[in-house]
Amino acid sequence: MKLKVRKSRLWKLYNLVFPNADINTVYIAFGRTIFIPKYGITQDLMIHEMTHLYQQKHSYFYAWIWWFKYVIDKKFRYSQELQAYSKQLKFAYQSFKHKDRNIAFKQRMQMKDSVAKTMSHPMYKGMVSYEQARKDIEGVI
Ligand SMILES: [Zn+2]
Repeated sequence: MKLKVRKSRLWKLYNLVFPNADINTVYIAFGRTIFIPKYGITQDLMIHEMTHLYQQKHSYFYAWIWWFKYVIDKKFRYSQELQAYSKQLKFAYQSFKHKDRNIAFKQRMQMKDSVAKTMSHPMYKGMVSYEQARKDIEGVI
């Protein structure tokens, strides 16, 4: 696996399809490479992007097919993101879980809320509603 701190050549294509995405916050997983914005990547995001590499079978060839499906098929896009966000969420929660039960509960609610908001953001072109995403990640943490 490679990490590249630069814009992927795919960015222009990506931006064409997802015009609401912000270059400074977009990570692109492609085959065996993760392209990251200049300020770096957090561990939980790393888990997210590594899930996409796994989904692409760690293959540059398969990555093209994966991306094609990802772009044209909303359901496929959601299935892939749901898996990636679930792993990310699990990791983040386990790393930052508060010892106090009540605070940990609040934390869990906030994390799920934030992930559901991100998944229903226009940058994903309406792949899921907030309510559906919130429901689907309910059992993750
Ligand atoms: Zn993703």
